[in-house]
Amino acid sequence: MRYNGLMNDLYAKLAALLGPKGHTTDAEIIAPHLKEWRGRYQGSTPFLAMPASTEEVAAMMRLCAQAGAAITTQGGNTGLVGGQIPQGEVLLSTKRMDRIRAIDAANDSLIAEAGAVLAVAQQTAADSGRRFPLSLASEGSATIGGLISTNAGGVHVMRYGMMREQVLGLEIVLADGRVMHGLKGLRKDNTGYDLKQLFIGAEGTLGIVTAANLRLVPIAAARELAVASVRSPSQALALLHRLKGATGAVSAFEMMNRLGVELTVKNVAGVRDRLPGAALLTLIEFEAAHGAGLREALEGALAAALEAGEIETALIAENSSQTRDFWALREAMSAGHKPEGAQVSHDISVPVSQTPAFLEQAEARMNRICPGVRIVAFGHMGDGNLHYTLIAPLGAAAAAFPAEALTQAVFETAAKLDGSISAEHGIGVARKGDLIRFKDPESLSLMRAIKRTLDPANLMNPRVLIE
Ligand SMILES: Cc1cc2nc3c(=O)[nH]c(=O)nc-3n(C[C@H](O)[C@H](O)[C@H](O)COP(=O)(O)OP(=O)(O)OC[C@H]3O[C@@H](n4cnc5c(N)ncnc54)[C@H](O)[C@@H]3O)c2cc1C
Repeated sequence: MRYNGLMNDLYAKLAALLGPKGHTTDAEIIAPHLKEWRGRYQGSTPFLAMPASTEEVAAMMRLCAQAGAAITTQGGNTGLVGGQIPQGEVLLSTKRMDRIRAIDAANDSLIAEAGAVLAVAQQTAADSGRRFPLSLASEGSATIGGLISTNAGGVHVMRYGMMREQVLGLEIVLADGRVMHGLKGLRKDNTGYDLKQLFIGAEGTLGIVTAANLRLVPIAAARELAVASVRSPSQALALLHRLKGATGAVSAFEMMNRLGVELTVKNVAGVRDRLPGAALLTLIEFEAAHGAGLREALEGALAAALEAGEIETALIAENSSQTRDFWALREAMSAGHKPEGAQVSHDISVPVSQTPAFLEQAEARMNRICPGVRIVAFGHMGDGNLHYTLIAPLGAAAAAFPAEALTQAVFETAAKLDGSISAEHGIGVARKGDLIRFKDPESLSLMRAIKRTLDPANLMNPRVLIE
């Protein structure tokens, strides 16, 4: 094996520490780690490290700190803002740290290593008669460490919260190789600063998550799924509150606009629009510990919503194939408009009460900046998170599409409504400039102070989130 450049000594020491299974410099093996699935980010690294234990990660960080070498951490490589793609740093993949270390069903908790895939954690919980409630389309690849580091969301946030709410404890390797042991499965612990919170959503910039203690919930025995067509975002909001009040069981409230539905049906094979013509389509999922009364409460609430003019029509899934059918449309929405030419996407959030104002104000602004712009709006209306994509007008030249002006107008509209420029995907390398423009200056200065304290030499994901 040959190493080039100033870091030869470090790479030799890392190779000796990690052994043949724990590292590679083979470009072919490294290649899939250097690009993300959409091809938006392409990176480089001289050295891929694949430690198998917390001790190896800690020893590795000590060597990197001594050499002043930066690292990028990568889990399942499903992140959407480029934070997991190295640009010359040592790449640390958690893929060999994928064990479920323990499950404590009586405490409703399990301990998973950082590289454990979400679907495996879900299955392990299910095998013990419990449920790990985080669920998203990338669950077959996304890892516990990545989900924690991006504070991932998904479709059940309004009922169970983001990844942050699922974390009882963390084990962290710090930039200098020290280990923070915090894996206790406690619901209550008032012994000062809740340090684990710093690392959740930190995008790998403060330390490496090596394991997590995660809370589990009971398996819901009864589920219902409905789709309803509404005329306006305000009516969708009224429907959300009616259903929450009437059933106490809403676990997901998703919305899709007409153009988004039409493009998805056109571009994605096998997807059906069950309520053609709906200006806005809402998909609502319900979960309860037992079925008694849930269906009746749902039917009663939908009938009342119809009477009040909040909905035009509604369908309740009658079997699992209809349930899959309803969800298939929602899950295909991201892919549905990709083939439609020049476009720019956003992942904003506003207070739930402001979702109608956002949709109305943003539409008017977008049309002023780019007359005829095609707007696809969909997402987790129940928690205020909307995916908002702008597509060049039909027949317009891609070069003339004012993507950046539209993006700034989307962010300004959200910010004026007390919203956030990034609800789920994070900042990564993609939105660093926007973070500085839209985040409160004191919050930014505290973030920088925390970064300098925990990682004074800027070795942890150095190009990501904040400098
Ligand atoms: C089809 C699809 C659907 C998605 N849907 C959603 C969704 O609904 N909601 C949502 O929130 N996200 C969604 N995502 C985004 C993505 O799945 C999440 O961001 C996920 O949490 C990333 O996990 P990962 O293991 O792939 O991390 P990676 O992509 O490998 O890394 C993401 C970030 O975390 C850091 N990191 C990874 N592991 C560690 C660790 N052990 N310690 C410290 N830092 C680490 C990386 O450096 C990087 O900055 C989706 C992605 C895809 C491709």
